Amino acid sequence: MTPRRRTEIPHATRIVVKVGSSSISGDNAGQIAPLVDALAAAHERGIEVVLVSSGAIATGMPYLKLDERPTDLATQQAAASVGQNLLVFRYQDSLDRYGIVAGQVLLTAGDLENPTPRSNAQRAMDRLLALKILPIVNENDTVATHEIRFGDNDRLAALVAELIGADLLVLLSDVDALYTKPPHLDGAKRIEHVPFGDALTGVEIGSVGRAGVGTGGAETKVSAARIAAEAGAAVLITATSLVADALAGREVGTWFEPAPERHTADGEPALA
Ligand code: GLU
Repeated sequence: MTPRRRTEIPHATRIVVKVGSSSISGDNAGQIAPLVDALAAAHERGIEVVLVSSGAIATGMPYLKLDERPTDLATQQAAASVGQNLLVFRYQDSLDRYGIVAGQVLLTAGDLENPTPRSNAQRAMDRLLALKILPIVNENDTVATHEIRFGDNDRLAALVAELIGADLLVLLSDVDALYTKPPHLDGAKRIEHVPFGDALTGVEIGSVGRAGVGTGGAETKVSAARIAAEAGAAVLITATSLVADALAGREVGTWFEPAPERHTADGEPALA
C-alpha cells in the first residue's frame, strides 16, 4: 500500500532506503549498526526493503591511503573496487545479528536505459525480495565514467524505486530535512510537506553535500524525489540518525506526496 502520510509508512509494501557516503563511512561507520537495526525491524514486519548505499569510494579511501576523495576517474574506480567489497561486508556483518542475508546489486545507467539489462535487473530484484534477501544497490563504479554515470546515488535510488514499483523512497543524509534555505543560514525553516507537483518556489536549494566524500546535496534530493513521486512513490528526506523514527512513521523530515496515480516504469498507468 502506498503511504499517503507518514503515519502509514509502517504499512508500506516495498521501500527503497538510500544512504549517503558521509553517513556511513569514516567517523560515521558506526551508523551502519543503527541503520541496519531500523531496516531489520521493517523487514521483520514484512516490508520488502531495498538499500541503496553510497560509500564505496569513501570506504576505500583509507585503504588506498587517500585523505580526500580522488578526482581522477581511475583512482575513483580503484577506490570503489576496494570500498564496495568492505562496505557490503560491513552491512552483512551487521545483518547477521538478525539472520538477514544481503544481495549485492551493482548497476550502470545503461543497464536501466536498455530494455534487456533493465528487465534482467527487475527480475533479479523481484526474486531477491521474494527470497527475503535484502538487496544492497550501488552504481557499478569500477566501470562507470563521468559521461555515463547516474550522476549521484539519489537519482539511482529514485530510478530503482521506479524500476521495482516501490511505494516509498527514503533519502537519508547528514541533514534532517529540506529547509527553505541552506540550514546553517538564519531563518531557515524545515519544509514539512511538499504537495505533488509543487515547484518549491522561493526555496533556496543548495547543490553541494556537506562532508566532501559524497556527491549529492539538497538539489539532487529534490530532483530524485520528483522522479520517484512522479512514478507513484511517496518520498521522505531525512537524516540517517532519524531512520528508525522515519520508518516508524514519526513526524520527521520532508514528505513529498506521490502522484495520485501510480505509473509503471515505462510510463504507462499501472493496472492495479
Ligand atoms: N557510487 C558512489 C560511491 O559509492 C557514490 C555516489 C554518490 O555519492 O552519490 O562511492
